[in-house]
Amino acid sequence: MTFTPNLVVDWLTHFTCNYRCAYCWFEGHWEENLARNRRDVSSSLIIKRFKELGEKKGPCHIQASGGEPTLLPGFLDILAEVSVDHRFWVCTNMSSEVDFFKELADRVDPERCGFTASFHPPRAALADFMGKLRLLRDRDFNFDIVCVGWPPLMDQWPAVFEELRREGFQRVRLQPFNGTYGGQKYPEAYSSAAREKIAALNQERNLFVKSQTDYLMHEKESRGRLCSSGQRYIHIQADGNVYRCNLDQNVCLGNFYDGTYGLYEKPEICHVPHCNCEWCWIVGEKDVFGKNEQNAVKA
Ligand code: SF4
Ligand code: SF4
Repeated sequence: MTFTPNLVVDWLTHFTCNYRCAYCWFEGHWEENLARNRRDVSSSLIIKRFKELGEKKGPCHIQASGGEPTLLPGFLDILAEVSVDHRFWVCTNMSSEVDFFKELADRVDPERCGFTASFHPPRAALADFMGKLRLLRDRDFNFDIVCVGWPPLMDQWPAVFEELRREGFQRVRLQPFNGTYGGQKYPEAYSSAAREKIAALNQERNLFVKSQTDYLMHEKESRGRLCSSGQRYIHIQADGNVYRCNLDQNVCLGNFYDGTYGLYEKPEICHVPHCNCEWCWIVGEKDVFGKNEQNAVKA
């Protein structure tokens, strides 16, 4: 059975990461972003706020990202406590120690937590990465593996994907790079050969990956369109400010950590020209739950 959440919450835990990937969204902006971390917020306050959210909205699907969320002080306590009421999906670079993942597997129900494990060859070793994934797999956790199609890495992905699939990790995808490299803007600058390589590596695995890859290859005009974000989906920034999404931050809906936020009651107009984040919430654009079914943890 698939868990259908009342609300999808993108929780940007903090702007702290032990990797500094050259292709990261935050590259060149780490210092200004670090200043947005709410260092005064304890794990017990975060647990309290998510419990309050559950009382208001019922079970939510929480997508925890960063930075690297597993480095947030008390993250394991938050995961163990909050996943009693909600379902979690954690985007992690898997750099935390094996003991962290062992404790996680002991304390968190695999029916209530899944992972997007991102592999970053400039900083991570494949054997170590796969070892931790084997541990999660043995304990029945769901996860996807994502790699980034940064141009300097494109040559090594076929061998990495082959090894991952040989080890039985089938849910692996190559995410098109979104940014500038060598003075060219990507994904637009991908050659047709590179596009074919991305499609082949993804093996058009399923509709979600195909539509996401297709989407990331093109920008979607969104200004003026009705979007359910802010009502059925929210984005919590590292400082706790709540926005309808990562891109449209014209209106702050309040602060999550301070408990002072409110959600839209209906879809509202998007104010940014191009959506490259939570496109699935544009009214009429996609099956609203197409993405979330894919991300949802089995109930
Ligand atoms: S691991 Fe992720 S968050 Fe950290 S620097 Fe790399 S891309 Fe950015
Ligand atoms: S269309 Fe995209 S950018 Fe616009 S409000 Fe919705 S999620 Fe945000």
